[in-house]
Parts: sequence; structure tokens; C-alpha cells
Amino acid sequence: MIVISNLHKRFGDLHVLKGVSLTVEKGKVVVIIGPSGSGKTTLLRCLNALELPTEGSVQIGEVKLDFSARGRVDKAEIARLRRQTGMVFQSYNLFPHMTALQNVMEGPVTVKKENPDSARAKAVSLLTKVGLADKLDHYPAQLSGGQQQRVGIARALAMDPQVMLFDEPTSALDPELVGEVLKVMKELALEGMTMVVVTHEMAFARDVADEVIFMDQGVIVEHGTPEQLFTRPREERTRQFLQLLQ
Ligand code: ADP
Repeated sequence: MIVISNLHKRFGDLHVLKGVSLTVEKGKVVVIIGPSGSGKTTLLRCLNALELPTEGSVQIGEVKLDFSARGRVDKAEIARLRRQTGMVFQSYNLFPHMTALQNVMEGPVTVKKENPDSARAKAVSLLTKVGLADKLDHYPAQLSGGQQQRVGIARALAMDPQVMLFDEPTSALDPELVGEVLKVMKELALEGMTMVVVTHEMAFARDVADEVIFMDQGVIVEHGTPEQLFTRPREERTRQFLQLLQ
């Protein structure tokens, strides 16, 4: 479902991604862990071309973008790649002047030109799925952080993405609200959604990930099953990082 090949990203002189390659099979959940500044968010943002890689290629489903010949990647191709993915951010980025229902309907109606009645029905069903059937007409300010993030997940799902990308979705939440968001993410994983998740929630990684990737200084240092990576890390850098978490 996802093939990333030799991805590089530079911000001026700063070489943030230094040749990242990764394959994710359909229906699998990959969790990316690593120290702050190691390039996790940048990798995720390159996956849907929110950042344009300096070199390398990204394929999601049928859409492949080769950034080696930069300048030849046109806007229509970037839009096609982006439509393959749904992204959930640390800050929920909901439209404050729209209700939960309107937030979830907005993309399908304005971007995908879906019929408003069917978009509404789908939005109701998605908000019900994330446990917010009784909050359809609430505005973001009337919702807790956990509820807002669940609206964010429903909104991303409303665009029918092939892949869901999560960038530290629970980092901004009060501890007691983290669980309700992780539960929705786990349900999504069990339904077979292909997911790439940047998170510090190691219990979630152990429980839900098919594969855990440890990144440091712009490279994938090692990857493996949660069992391998957490209990038998091969690399010293991974060991040190995991020790710091204990
Ligand atoms: P992580 O998610 O692992 O904490 P990031 O991908 O956010 O790491 O950042 C990796 C490095 O890239 C950091 O040094 C960060 O300051 C830098 N960086 C990220 N985005 C930008 C940007 N838009 N412009 C310049 N530097 C950036």
C-alpha cells in the first residue's frame, strides 16, 4: 500500500531525512518512534506531500510520485497523492465556526463534491463510530480535547482515504482523555485500515502495531515487530532510547 524509497528532505542546510525506505502492506499498522527532532513528523508530512521531499519517491496505492526530478511533480499529482491519505494532527485543526457534523461533511461536500444528503448520512455514521452520536451539533469549543480529536479522525475518514496518518494524535491531550482516542485508533486498525502512527504511546505500539520503526537523526535505525524491538533491540541507539522511557 505504501512504498517509500530513498527519501531525503533538506530544509536549507539541514538534512532532516537521509535516505528513508519503507514498505507498508495493506491493512498493517506501523508505529514510528524516536527522539524529538529525528524526522518522524517530516517523514509523515512527506508521505502526503505536505512537505515536498528533496529526493526519492513515495507511492501510496496506485499513485507514485518521484521527487528525484524535482519540478516535474505537478500539482495535480500532489493532489492525487494527498487524496489517498487522511491525516490526524496533534492539534485538531477543526473549523471553530462549524459543528462536529459540519466539520466532517465539509471535505466530502466541497472537495469531493458529494451530495450533501449522503455526505451528512456518512458524517453521522462516522461520528457515531467514534462515539460522538450525541455531539453532532456541538461546536469544537463545546467539546473536550479527546472529543475534538475524535471528530478529527471522523473528518479524515470521511474522505475515504487508503491510508491514515497520525502525527502524535494524543500528545496535546490531558492524560485522562488519551485512552478514548487510542481506543478509536485501535478499532480502526482492527477493521483493517492501513495506518502510520507517530506516537510516544509505547503501550499502544506494543498492543496495536504490526511493525515498530525506530528513527534517529533522519534514518531508520531499526524496525521489527513490537516484541522484537521492545524486548530484543539490536541497536545500541534503540536500547538507549527505550531505557530513557522507563
Ligand atoms: P520529530 O517529529 O522526530 O520530532 P521533525 O520531523 O519535526 O522531528 O523535525 C526534524 C528536524 O527538522 C528538526 O530539526 C526540525 O527543527 C527540522 N524542521 C522541521 N520542519 C522544518 C521546517 N519547516 N523548516 C526548517 N526546519 C524544519
